[in-house]
Amino acid sequence: MDRKTKIIATVGPSLSSESKIKKIIDAGANVLRINFSHGTLEDHENVISWARKSNKQVAIMQDIQGPKIRTGISSENTFLEKSKNVTLTNIETESNNDIVFINYENLLRDVNVDDRVFIDDGQIVLKVVEKENDKLEALILIGGELRDNQGVAFPDSNLSVSAITEKDIEHLKFGSEHDVDFVAVSFVRNASDINLVKEIIPKDVKVIAKIELKTALDNIDEILDVADGVMVARGDLGVQLPLEQVPFVQKQILDAANKRGKISITATEMLQSMKTSYRPTRAEVTDITNAILEGSDAVMLSAETSIGDNPNRVVEVMSIICKETDSRNDTSSLLSKEDSKEDSITTTLARAAVQVANEIDASSIIAFTETGRTPLLISNFRPKAEIITFSTKKKTLNQMNLLWGVDQYPIERKETFSEMLKAANDFLISEKKYNKGDKVVVVAGTPPNIEAATNLIRVHEIGDL
Ligand code: PEP
Repeated sequence: MDRKTKIIATVGPSLSSESKIKKIIDAGANVLRINFSHGTLEDHENVISWARKSNKQVAIMQDIQGPKIRTGISSENTFLEKSKNVTLTNIETESNNDIVFINYENLLRDVNVDDRVFIDDGQIVLKVVEKENDKLEALILIGGELRDNQGVAFPDSNLSVSAITEKDIEHLKFGSEHDVDFVAVSFVRNASDINLVKEIIPKDVKVIAKIELKTALDNIDEILDVADGVMVARGDLGVQLPLEQVPFVQKQILDAANKRGKISITATEMLQSMKTSYRPTRAEVTDITNAILEGSDAVMLSAETSIGDNPNRVVEVMSIICKETDSRNDTSSLLSKEDSKEDSITTTLARAAVQVANEIDASSIIAFTETGRTPLLISNFRPKAEIITFSTKKKTLNQMNLLWGVDQYPIERKETFSEMLKAANDFLISEKKYNKGDKVVVVAGTPPNIEAATNLIRVHEIGDL
């Protein structure tokens, strides 16, 4: 494997057939993200079944919408003019130049004078100037056309919405029935939001917290205590925070995730120009490179693949950029990272394995895994050697598609470590063309087939066993 950074492609109308899904996987998508803010359950069901038919491994990430607040229907030609006032109400009505409906029941309780209101990702900006019993009065700071059902954000307000809506619960049940590998949770504020999701989904589904609210940034440590990974969701972050802060926040989130041995994803507008254009901009190439150098395990495509003109080409371009960066990325400093709180023995063993592999110039680190936790930690220390993992569990194999530098293979259940070692040894000779005498570092738990019991590192020379 010559690309270590993984690619997530969002599906949508541009990927709405079995052959298109096959092609995007062949182009290099490791994970398909299904955005449950759009499309029907039937569309999602189709995508999952097409993806499962591919002969390449791919993981499915279900992205739930969360409490996205929206405007409603607008009269024709509704235009909010800069410097004028507009009324905001949560009593359903058609919006026009003078009044805007916002579908948030606690609007009057949670939004105060001086709070800003961003509509359509900040294309329109208002500031509340007066609060009455049944409405807010706002000054239009940045005007614009108000189309139907635009997203609304309140970067200065403390909203009391539940992170998980009734619709999300229904979608999570659908995801569980359809065996998704990851759930990405939108608009997470704290650890309880993640725990709520975990109560609904099966234990072996991994949870990614989308960091897109200031509150989530403030609570990043407790979120990392319970989530399996985080996504730097730059779209909404860029609405919640001044845009110029987003690069620093990205670095902060990636650092925090890496220090805790959690999965990290950088998302949104990475190749935005390629929605329509054949070549990326210099700035986009540099952005992807920097996101990888800052420690992203995976980079994500959204509109570029879901509604773009040429999704396969976008994945191919992203793959080329990742490969170039991966081949030049000096990751040695990552070895000194803090231990993850949860399983410090496994973390210590993973770090030691990477250190040994680097020092003896091992060709690979081999890990046998039940849950994927040990490979994640090994990956987190960014070894020079390939990380080759074996698991008996289909879901674990799927999920390892998201881990930086990890290449995963199914294995039949073995009862002893010697049998596991022999299987790996023979696999490396036959499939990976390793030579006798090549050194590899093996990490395993003995006795085998027990979760969270990694307790062994062994240097092995490939040969007859
Ligand atoms: C984002 O806001 O950057 C994001 C990834 O979320 P969504 O695509 O659901 O808006």
